Amino acid sequence: MALIKCPECQSEISKSAASCPKCGKPLKKKSSGLGCLLALILSALVVWGIYESEKESPTSSQIEQMQKLKEPGQSLTDTARRLRRMSKRFNMSLEKIVALDMFYHEQGLTLDDLEKDLLLKNIK
Ligand SMILES: [Zn+2]
Repeated sequence: MALIKCPECQSEISKSAASCPKCGKPLKKKSSGLGCLLALILSALVVWGIYESEKESPTSSQIEQMQKLKEPGQSLTDTARRLRRMSKRFNMSLEKIVALDMFYHEQGLTLDDLEKDLLLKNIK
């Protein structure tokens, strides 16, 4: 096992020790880079978890579409949530709702217009 010198008491201690067994000084681990990466992965997982928390998770291309669909001042997660709520409410697949919303956006209409239309005539 590799040994290092404790910066505090100079005694030889294991490199893998979290703290010096003699004086108790906590030893720095060379993991700040890994910690950053971990934090990044974690935050990505949190964002993903918002999608995952609901049954049907959007594919990466759907997320790409949602990026285009989101209204100014709205976050992607808001848009994703809203689309998902609508897919449940109108008993349509998320894919279909996204496709419809894309169609509406191309015509300069918004998700509100789509929702109203769905409420009125239940487009299939
Ligand atoms: Zn020590």
